[in-house]
Amino acid sequence: MEEKKIPYKIYLEEEEMPKEWYNVRADMKNKPAPLLNPETKQPMTAEELGAIFCDELVKQEMDDTTAYIPIPEEIRNFYKMYRPSPLVRAYCLEEKLQTPAKIYYKFEGNNTSGSHKLNSAIAQAYYAKQQGLKGVTTETGAGQWGTALSMACAYLDLDCKVYMVKVSYEQKPFRKEVMRTYGANVTPSPSTTTEIGKKILERHPGTTGSLGCAISEAVEVASNTPGYRYVLGSVMNQVLLHQSVIGLETKAALDKYGIEPDIIIGCAGGGSNLGGLISPFMGEKLRGEKNYRFIAVEPESCPSFTRGKYAYDFCDTGMVCPLQKMYTLGSNFIPSASHAGGLRYHGMSSTLSQLYADGLMEATTVSQTQVFEAAQMFAKVEGILPAPESSHAIRVAIDEAMKCKETGEEKTIVFGLTGTGYFDMVAYGKYNDGVMSDYVPTDEELEKSFALLPDVE
Ligand SMILES: *Cc1c(COP(=O)(O)O)cnc(C)c1O
Repeated sequence: MEEKKIPYKIYLEEEEMPKEWYNVRADMKNKPAPLLNPETKQPMTAEELGAIFCDELVKQEMDDTTAYIPIPEEIRNFYKMYRPSPLVRAYCLEEKLQTPAKIYYKFEGNNTSGSHKLNSAIAQAYYAKQQGLKGVTTETGAGQWGTALSMACAYLDLDCKVYMVKVSYEQKPFRKEVMRTYGANVTPSPSTTTEIGKKILERHPGTTGSLGCAISEAVEVASNTPGYRYVLGSVMNQVLLHQSVIGLETKAALDKYGIEPDIIIGCAGGGSNLGGLISPFMGEKLRGEKNYRFIAVEPESCPSFTRGKYAYDFCDTGMVCPLQKMYTLGSNFIPSASHAGGLRYHGMSSTLSQLYADGLMEATTVSQTQVFEAAQMFAKVEGILPAPESSHAIRVAIDEAMKCKETGEEKTIVFGLTGTGYFDMVAYGKYNDGVMSDYVPTDEELEKSFALLPDVE
């Protein structure tokens, strides 16, 4: 069959956009382990979860049997403002690498939040509004999730309280201003506005904060403020579900041209973009219809999959969130201060964790200097200034393409380009000045953190 000329960008028509999210858990033989109550260590009931999360999102969180869940029309209309996102054939990168591999990337940076996080933010805000709530609270690290949620809340006229990790609040003042422009209330964490924040500040005066700590503060405020619930930008099953829109669009675009990927690559922080991208393809693999290689890429300074333990752990420093079984470095683990490339969460999606434990996907680590080298090469040839997080996937896509060059194989590689890096210029500056260093945690450091894992079987 004559090959159709593949355009630089494969778009979908509005009517080709997904009308349902795909829930990969429905096709998993081994389901992800249930969330546990941090006090009783028993599985969380819907009622208990409902004190923290919106009711409809609790249902989605616990549903591991329904394969397709309709996307409400209002969310689909919001998606239409910035989706479908393009699937780009990286002709220029292929040319630069002189590789026989065919490289595609799904670009999620074409919205003001600059990342894929808006896909779940609008869904979570929508269900909060449906429930008649007044507002939501959340944490943000680098700021992409806080920005996405602020945008979604502005659209639906909901209050939005964001606890932003203090070091980012100070290093990324423009991120904070974007959120405030969308009407969000932004507090640097740890703060004195919560009991847990005060406790952490007492114990660690001068701390620059962590995601785990910001989560605890946001959860505390949501539980103590009538009409508020907590929402989370990654890790949870519901977030992977919403992010499946990435994979469904990717698959629809590839199918249009009869393209079959061999390798699908994504960066992994909490696992939401990777989970979303691979879900429909993983579904085919789980049902025995197709075979693909899936690769999760994580920083060597925060290697949850590759060096973590598969165990129940806390999602937050304050130990108020439900326990989740996942690959984890321990909720006390904080990546080295020299780490600038994002993806610094200690744990991982429980869905992806189960798939990894079952040998259905691979994981690898890269150093941050390798990541920024790939980022710069990509920016020069493909034009887009990538987020450091996304550049983890770029690095491994390039490495796989170079392997094809050696063997002469014409593999098709798809990777997730999750966002843009305009707010990461301090990190780029370090790279450009040649002062970026790599850090690998020692086994001793990790053992210390593992020793504090909760005692649950
Ligand atoms: C948040 C973020 C990530 C990592 O989060 P996941 O939940 O692992 O997808 C990756 N890239 C960008 C641009 C992000 O904002």
